[in-house]
Amino acid sequence: MNKVEARTSPIHGIGLFATRDFAKGERVVQYTGLIVYTPPQPDKNGLVHAMELNPGRWIDGSGQENIARHANHSCEPNAESQPDGDVIQIVALRDIKSGEEITFDYGYNLCDALSHPCHCGAKGCLGRIVATPLRTAFWKHLRIGRARD
Ligand SMILES: [Zn+2]
Repeated sequence: MNKVEARTSPIHGIGLFATRDFAKGERVVQYTGLIVYTPPQPDKNGLVHAMELNPGRWIDGSGQENIARHANHSCEPNAESQPDGDVIQIVALRDIKSGEEITFDYGYNLCDALSHPCHCGAKGCLGRIVATPLRTAFWKHLRIGRARD
C-alpha cells in the first residue's frame, strides 16, 4: 500500500499527503528520477521538478512515477530532504499523522525566492519560498527594501 497520495492542496496545486502515521525520523517517500548535469528547465506550467543532489548534479524529478515531486514547500515543514546516493529521501522531521500534507523546505536561494511566492499558511510564513538558513537575511532584505520605498 502506498504510504502517501497526491491530491489537491490548500498550499499550492497538488500536494503530497500521508496515508498513514509516520514517526519522527522515518522515511516518508523517495524523490527519484534521472541524474542530470545541467539544471532542469521549467515545464509548460512554469514548474521545475528537480532537486540538486550536490553541486552540478540534479535529479530530474518530472517523471510520473516520482510522486514526491508533488510535495509542497512550507516555511514550517514537517519533513526534510536528505541526499542518499542517487536519490533524495523525504524524512519526517516530527511525528506526522495520516492525512497531513507532507512539506519540506525547498531551500531556494534569495534570488530564486523573490520569484516564488509561498502560500503555506504557517505562522512564520515569509510569503516567499526561501531556505531556513537564509531567513534572517531575507527579513533584513525585506526591511531594507521597505525602508527605501
Ligand atoms: Zn510559507
